[in-house]
Amino acid sequence: MKKNIIIAIALALLLVSCGGRNDKETIKIAYLPITHALPSVELQHAENVNVELIKYGSWPELLDALNTGRVDGASVLIELAMKAKAQGVGLTAVALGHTDGNVIVVAEDIKKGEDLKGKTFAIPHRASSHHIFLQEALAKDGLAIEDVNVVEMAPPEMPSALANRQISGYCVAEPFGAVGVNISKGHVLYRSDELWPNSICCSLVLNDKAYSEKKQQLDKVIEAYLKAGEKLVDKHEALVKSKEILSQPDDVLKQSLEWIDFSHLVITPEAYEELVSKVKKYGILNNPPSYADFVKEK
Ligand code: ZN
Repeated sequence: MKKNIIIAIALALLLVSCGGRNDKETIKIAYLPITHALPSVELQHAENVNVELIKYGSWPELLDALNTGRVDGASVLIELAMKAKAQGVGLTAVALGHTDGNVIVVAEDIKKGEDLKGKTFAIPHRASSHHIFLQEALAKDGLAIEDVNVVEMAPPEMPSALANRQISGYCVAEPFGAVGVNISKGHVLYRSDELWPNSICCSLVLNDKAYSEKKQQLDKVIEAYLKAGEKLVDKHEALVKSKEILSQPDDVLKQSLEWIDFSHLVITPEAYEELVSKVKKYGILNNPPSYADFVKEK
């Protein structure tokens, strides 16, 4: 009799713990502290999902965590994930981080695009929309990528590199464009919507193995993420969430948020095809994955 009671209690505990794991399993999402990652930040406050944000200091470190499944998903530059997918890593893009929201910031002595000839220009990674914006801007002003010295740099280092005259311009995830303008060492040469309207840049990308193992939970996360984007259309809400991950003055964050659009986070086939044509045109990726292979349709 006593033995049966012990077995019954053990079974009950097992059921409770299994049920608990399904309902409350923590989903790990990697991010860099940038205003482009705000839908992921907002996710932490969403109902019905238990999301833990894991902060990284650089795109290569974050991508490695995503590729190896140390995190379930990440807010990442979409071209980096496309490149990994093209190399055989199981990744799926499920939503955008934002549309628009990048600027080309240049030093005071750069009055027009042509002045960039022979100068050093920083981007976060060659596989990025920032590389596309730079090439669109150069083309507009009759220059080509060979006319500038392109360097890769971690986003937070760019404003000080501009102030020190180590570089003459940069294009990177926000708020670091706004930071460069705020310290009065830079000005905006082009906003990204002047070069590529409704551009794609960051995306929420899931590790396929994690998705197959935690599909139910991750489907809820995708749903919550899209709702999070709707909340961020409210500028005050976006500012509050920015302050959770960034210690920048309100003026900088407000300027940054003026440029970013969180209202269209679904990846449409048309927008993805436009991105594919640009990554091919500018030599960023020769064999980008197709929409059907890489994007989860809403
Ligand atoms: Zn972005």
